[in-house]
Amino acid sequence: MLALMKREYDVLILGAGASGLMCAAELRRNSRLRIGVIEGNATAGKKLEISGGGKCNITNVKVTPEHFAGDCTFVSQVLQRYSDQDLLHFLHVNGIDLELRKGRYYFCKHRAKEIVLLLLQLSQGVDFHYETRIESATSVAGLYQVSTSQGEFRAAHLVIATGGASYRQIGASDIGLRLAENFQMQTVPFTPALVGLTLQKEQFWMKALSGISFPVAIHVGSKIIEEEMLFAHKGISGPAVLSASLYWSKGELCIDFLPNDNLHVYLHSKKLLSTALPLSKRFMKAFLEHIGVEDRACNRLNEMEIDTLKCLHAYCFAPAGNFGFSKAEVSRGGIDVHELDAETLMSKKHKNLYYIGEVVDITGELGGYNFQWAFSSAVVCAEHIYKKS
Ligand SMILES: Cc1cc2nc3c(=O)[nH]c(=O)nc-3n(C[C@H](O)[C@H](O)[C@H](O)COP(=O)(O)OP(=O)(O)OC[C@H]3O[C@@H](n4cnc5c(N)ncnc54)[C@H](O)[C@@H]3O)c2cc1C
Repeated sequence: MLALMKREYDVLILGAGASGLMCAAELRRNSRLRIGVIEGNATAGKKLEISGGGKCNITNVKVTPEHFAGDCTFVSQVLQRYSDQDLLHFLHVNGIDLELRKGRYYFCKHRAKEIVLLLLQLSQGVDFHYETRIESATSVAGLYQVSTSQGEFRAAHLVIATGGASYRQIGASDIGLRLAENFQMQTVPFTPALVGLTLQKEQFWMKALSGISFPVAIHVGSKIIEEEMLFAHKGISGPAVLSASLYWSKGELCIDFLPNDNLHVYLHSKKLLSTALPLSKRFMKAFLEHIGVEDRACNRLNEMEIDTLKCLHAYCFAPAGNFGFSKAEVSRGGIDVHELDAETLMSKKHKNLYYIGEVVDITGELGGYNFQWAFSSAVVCAEHIYKKS
């Protein structure tokens, strides 16, 4: 251990979000290392606290590397060391009650804040420096030196846990990427993900449907996402669209508006199309007008109309863009995983420099995958530090 002055630590963690807090708690529980945490906000774990309407979706019943955008092998190596089962066990033994929603999403039963308080309690003895903006970092004579709005800090190990650039309104920044560039590490620019999509003129008919939501299947690249879609004033949103946004950057995606049914089953009905099909009447009317098919009795439709109607199962179009960083739940991009050792999260070029959480170029789908990643990567990093110290 280092001979310590006030602002010198064995481990300095940048960011007191989900991953930084978990890393601090794990280090504290397993070592006597001197640990400091630097955080720009006045409190820890802001995203954790507000996510999922204050109840945060912490993980999922099914967590596989395929639920993440990024290098699957890298994700798999990290999840093998700290899995969803390990996280559920940790929360259980520490008295955090969870509830399962839709048979797959684990949410906090009470408040997400309970997890923040638990991690802070397990971090007792760690120095938290709040309202301290991180500005730059260098390595000087085997120590990492960090410049902040409150002066200089030094440490033998530096853990960068500064998250992505979404939701700047609660402290997010791209400092993690800027620090990596200082350290000559490869990065992938941040782009908004898990975010609503905006529409081109041809799809403006959807805007009139604001507020309607129903299950769809979205085909984007090789992915099929089955969840609810929400028509919004600014474009399209809801869980299906948010997850699809993770895999979309430009070009077409296709929506099956009737994923659990077959159009042909209804074509013998004497009812009007807008009432026969198990979809919102308002949606059907707008859709039929858009594709130029009259709202007639299903059994009266001609071949051409039936052919046109088939796009109900594959409505393909190119969105215009997305709602931007201020609405995005996460940022895609980050530190290129080739720069990191998957068994430790340590930089391959710089000894004792670690990157964890969302700042790494691994992004989960909607459904608790991003907190799982934040916690798994944090524990793997912490374990490496305390085992060798
Ligand atoms: C509204 C919303 C809802 C979400 N819901 C879910 C959900 O239900 N389930 C899920 O899995 N994921 C969810 N996410 C994503 C999840 O919150 C993040 O992926 C996760 O918090 C990432 O953890 P992290 O530790 O890497 O980063 P963060 O938790 O973002 O922590 C980074 C910390 O670094 C600090 N920081 C950044 N820059 C600086 C700087 N220059 N100086 C000082 N401090 C700095 C920040 O203030 C922050 O405290 C949600 C995100 C949002 C925005």
